Amino acid sequence: MTPVDTAACEAGREPLDPHALPPLPAPLLARLADCHTLPSLPAAVAKVLMVARRPDASLFDYAAAIEEDPALTLRLLALANSAFYARHRREASTCRDAVSRIGLDATLAAVMSFGLARPATAEGLDLDALWQRAIIAALAARHLAARLCPERAGTLFTIALIQDIGILAAGALDGDDYAALTRAAADHDALCQAERERYGCDHADLGAWLAASWGIPPHLARGIAESHGELAAASPATLCLRLSGRIADGWLTQTPGRAFARLIRRLDALEALPADSLEEILDELQAQLPSMAELLEITRPPQRDGHELLAEAKRHLFMQSLALGARLDAQQAELESLREQHAELEHSSRLDPLTGLANRAWLEQQLEERFHRSRAQGKNLAVVFIDLDHFKRLNDRHGHQLGDRVLANFATNLQEMIREGDLAARYGGEEFLVILPDEGVTGAEAMATRLSERLAIHPVARVDGESLHVSVSIGIACLDDADFRDARELIDAADQGMYQAKRNGRGSAHHFIPPP
Ligand code: GH3
Ligand code: MG
Ligand code: MG
Repeated sequence: MTPVDTAACEAGREPLDPHALPPLPAPLLARLADCHTLPSLPAAVAKVLMVARRPDASLFDYAAAIEEDPALTLRLLALANSAFYARHRREASTCRDAVSRIGLDATLAAVMSFGLARPATAEGLDLDALWQRAIIAALAARHLAARLCPERAGTLFTIALIQDIGILAAGALDGDDYAALTRAAADHDALCQAERERYGCDHADLGAWLAASWGIPPHLARGIAESHGELAAASPATLCLRLSGRIADGWLTQTPGRAFARLIRRLDALEALPADSLEEILDELQAQLPSMAELLEITRPPQRDGHELLAEAKRHLFMQSLALGARLDAQQAELESLREQHAELEHSSRLDPLTGLANRAWLEQQLEERFHRSRAQGKNLAVVFIDLDHFKRLNDRHGHQLGDRVLANFATNLQEMIREGDLAARYGGEEFLVILPDEGVTGAEAMATRLSERLAIHPVARVDGESLHVSVSIGIACLDDADFRDARELIDAADQGMYQAKRNGRGSAHHFIPPP
């Protein structure tokens, strides 16, 4: 749908092409054709509209048509002399004065809204709410237009005022059923959604159709059709119109602070309106609403203070961003603790619980990786297989618990003497394995010697005041010893070296080289 080009339309006042409006679904059109209670205009208003359709219509023609109805004349004069047009000092005393003062579009809007204020066919609808929304939107549209597209202020006032007449048409079609729909809808958007589900279009399309059927100028009918929709990508005139309805909704809701917080977020994203304009517009609205309501014999909308309202809206925005921040913080903390838990779990799944060294599975995985990395880089790597001597005897003599303590103490000794980058693991029972990256047999033998010497000095337990020492048998295998196919074969070689050390009388190391 193209945006309202009211300026072009105003200039021409061309007759309405029905195709210029969005087509209504055929079943709905059929029902409208059969409906004899659709809102119609009082005869005097219809006459004014006929004048409005004439391209050459002048102020005099308007005034003449309005003067035929004394009640209409009186109310138009009241409007022209109201606070809304108060910048004129001289009082408007004739219908012509009034029309020239308020402009042709506003005259038309006023005449139509007087005629429509209490249609007999709108049982069940909350007409007060409807017209309150209409006058707030009309004033808001005019003030928005003053900032965004001043030349269209009059037209936008008119369109905004009658933008919801489609609700009257739907009320005439479906009476209480439709009234129930309006009551059930949480807001204007929700009502439109419910209407689209029921009729295949919303009340903006219906209102444009109704306006066209009355013969109101086409640019106004098209404007009604445009009154709903996204704020983004709308032309300035369409934006004024669409915003006007949202401002009216915000004004009338029980929780205006929240509503304006939402609106401010949208407007900030659009960057269409200067930051402090909204507060000025709300203040202007508050100043003019009471007299407008009185003119149209509508219950006064609630009083709002623009400054207070926006301060509350900003508090909402602030609270929302705080809540959002807190939620993000909580999520972040949860994520962190999950990560820690995961890391802990991963860590503990690698450890042997008794000694705190790496366990067999982790060692095998690490060795597999280092085996291939060292191969690829042409580097050496030594595996040292350590088995405690006569450990069964120690257990038998001193008990299994002391045996456990010995294993733990031995592991501490082992861990303290290896270098960073080496990996010591408990391979099983009283068997331990150390990986020495970048190390050949010389380094591995030196390490084996240092370990044996250390064990000879440091007791692994004290029993009845006596120091308890253990010795170890050590097997050594190096990557460059043979053409090992994988880490497994390297461990097997080290294991064989350890058995050879046992056979050699224990307490020593043996470097095993597999036969070619
Ligand atoms: P060798 O010098 O030939 O290695 O003799 P050994 O007695 O050390 O070897 P053997 O394999 O015959 O016995 C190992 C013992 O280690 C048997 C087992 O009860 C003990 N053992 C294995 N795991 C643990 C453990 O976690 N705690 C304790 N206290 N003892 C363990
Ligand atoms: Mg043993
Ligand atoms: Mg053993």
